[in-house]
Amino acid sequence: MDLFSHLPSPVLKCCQILHHAGYQAYPVGGCVRDLLLSRIPQDWDVCTSARPQEVQAQFPYTVPTGLSYGTITVILEGEKIEVTTFRKEQGYGDGRRPESVSFVSSLNQDLSRRDFTINAIALSLDGTFIDPYDGTIDLQRRMIRCVGHPILRFQEDALRMFRGIRFAAQLNFSLDPLIQDALSRLSDHAKILPAERIRQEVEKALCAPFPQQAALFFTTGLLAHYISPCTSVDTSPLARVPATPMARWAGLAALIEKASVDPTPLLRALLPEKGMFYALQNALNSFRMGMPDRPQLWRRFMVQKGMQTAQASAIMASVCGNPIPACQLEEILASSPCLSTKQLALSGRDLMELGFFGREIGDIQSLLLARVLDVPQDNSTSRLCSYLRELGYKIPGQAD
Ligand code: ATP
Ligand code: MG
Repeated sequence: MDLFSHLPSPVLKCCQILHHAGYQAYPVGGCVRDLLLSRIPQDWDVCTSARPQEVQAQFPYTVPTGLSYGTITVILEGEKIEVTTFRKEQGYGDGRRPESVSFVSSLNQDLSRRDFTINAIALSLDGTFIDPYDGTIDLQRRMIRCVGHPILRFQEDALRMFRGIRFAAQLNFSLDPLIQDALSRLSDHAKILPAERIRQEVEKALCAPFPQQAALFFTTGLLAHYISPCTSVDTSPLARVPATPMARWAGLAALIEKASVDPTPLLRALLPEKGMFYALQNALNSFRMGMPDRPQLWRRFMVQKGMQTAQASAIMASVCGNPIPACQLEEILASSPCLSTKQLALSGRDLMELGFFGREIGDIQSLLLARVLDVPQDNSTSRLCSYLRELGYKIPGQAD
């Protein structure tokens, strides 16, 4: 397969420039994996025998994004390319990060530190692959396999356990039985990882095309720190809801709840930004208590709880087998309903011109909004004026 024709020209140029300067340089890792699978790479990584300062010397625009790890971001023709010096990593005492990184001269040594065989393939400028761990075979077999023994590799860096499941969910690959075994033995190592890193990987898996694989986070006990290790969650219904973090987390929360477990501790730990957590928590409460079932109630619900909560609760219902709330919500939103005083046909300025002033204006706007939520077709100047007259307000002029 001629992968070079699929490489963006700046990535190719970056390798050629380093090459002409006497260094080795290869596209490597996720971008080669994705090209081989005809997927669009997220980012472009190049590994090189050049030291960081030598890389900087070859290109006019560079950013020392990870100098101590040997990474320089080269900006070429508007493309960002992460260029990293061949390196080896040593002493993973904390189970998360190497204690030291040293530069090496051999590509194979660099490939040996990478997590999975499918992420340890380099592309040579002559169009051949450097693939000492048979990553290309694993791509064909659709298999996630570690470079080296998974027990050792997961002991070095516990995040790899989450990455393995995340790649399974993105690619619909199986996990090598040795990985499955290592996951069940080492799942408690997950507790040393920062919640933010766990969240990133879990969220990527939830938002992936094959979210059913995210069930492995639960069956392996990787999330046991946050949720009962006996929980078995069927995550396959997530494939039916939009692949956005909010929708997929909402769906997951409902599916955990369906498994008779409270999802709140997991949500609280992994979703530190308050907005998302509270929207999901509110949605969960509404989902537990019963959702609106009429357009009028839906409009009130949206105003009281907010749009995010309304959408999240409808998603919760749909992953649990009830698509009606999501359909109702969609229908209501399609009619562009008035959901705030700003959308009223009578503005604050109009009300001032009608003779209202001060706090009265806000009170009247609340009355009008309540009316329009119940009777949306009343959101016209004439009908709102008639309504105010019905309530006993003196509004000049019969017609508008
Ligand atoms: P994505 O599509 O999400 O970018 P990726 O495989 O490219 O996936 P990156 O985090 O961009 O992942 O890392 C680039 C490469 O660096 C990986 O393909 C892998 O070779 C290596 N790598 C990243 N994280 C680890 C890790 N924790 N342990 C070992 N190797 C890693
Ligand atoms: Mg990448």
